[in-house]
Amino acid sequence: MPSRTVTTISGEISGEALGVVDYHEHLYFDAPSWLLREDRDFKLDNVDSSAEELRFWSAAGGNTIVEMTAIDFGRNIREVIRVAQQVPEVNVIAITGYNKPYFCDRAILLQDEQEMVDGCIRDIQVGIDGTDVRAGIMKGGSGYNTFQEPDQKLMRIAAKVQVQTGVPVITHTEAGTMGFEQVTFLADHSVSPDRVCLSHMDRNPDFWEHKRIAEMGAFLGYDCPGKAKYGPDQLRVDLLKRMIEAGLGGQILIGNDLGRPSYWRSYGGGPGLDFVLTRFVPRLRDEGVSEEAIRDLLVNNPRRFLTGAWQETECP
Ligand SMILES: [Zn+2]
Repeated sequence: MPSRTVTTISGEISGEALGVVDYHEHLYFDAPSWLLREDRDFKLDNVDSSAEELRFWSAAGGNTIVEMTAIDFGRNIREVIRVAQQVPEVNVIAITGYNKPYFCDRAILLQDEQEMVDGCIRDIQVGIDGTDVRAGIMKGGSGYNTFQEPDQKLMRIAAKVQVQTGVPVITHTEAGTMGFEQVTFLADHSVSPDRVCLSHMDRNPDFWEHKRIAEMGAFLGYDCPGKAKYGPDQLRVDLLKRMIEAGLGGQILIGNDLGRPSYWRSYGGGPGLDFVLTRFVPRLRDEGVSEEAIRDLLVNNPRRFLTGAWQETECP
């Protein structure tokens, strides 16, 4: 049974205290060294710069951010805590779990599945890496158009941890593929779709696909605003409007997933962590999206997802 409070780095908070939520970001991480050799732009490693960027976002009206760096991507909870402590007005939610097989080194992929489950449950119930900071989200994920072992291993772990702890699952989808398969697989492993959010779905802005996933009750994460390399924002605005018109606006969470220094002003890049709040949301208004629908995207939907509040009406 999910709790109605949400676990943040500084403790439990109520759903009402969440405010404006960005469901998918990275504040600090140590990417695996082999990955860094391939791509130098995976290095978010300056506490002061990360805190400065988080302050921009707070000043733009942000209240709660989910730090989505998984175990296999170099989660560094002690440095994330240092960032969060510099910006105490922002609630930061930490995670546990795994991103995708491509990021997992061989040792992780060969690790005993039950040990991995136990490690994630320890992160949620005791604390991460010897700290007393607990994770509030479980992560799983799969590769580009693949859903075989070891994708299924990471998703089985996510399912077992969700069922045993009640925390919601946010998955990685590669370029927005295999979302339907992920939700179906998790449901087959006793996870209610209401407790699942699929990341990066606007990489594949396919209305028919999104509609059938939302109709299962799962949440879709849109986190590419401002990333023109993944197509113009017009695609995302049109998709959002179509989902809202279809009565499915309640199933969408917004983030920006700016996990590269080249995306952040404080590291010398752009569009900056405040892009959604300072530019994308005003554009949604300009293109006719109602205040009510915008509030759902930023406040009501993430609160429902993070607290499991859908259960309150079903089991009072
Ligand atoms: Zn991410």
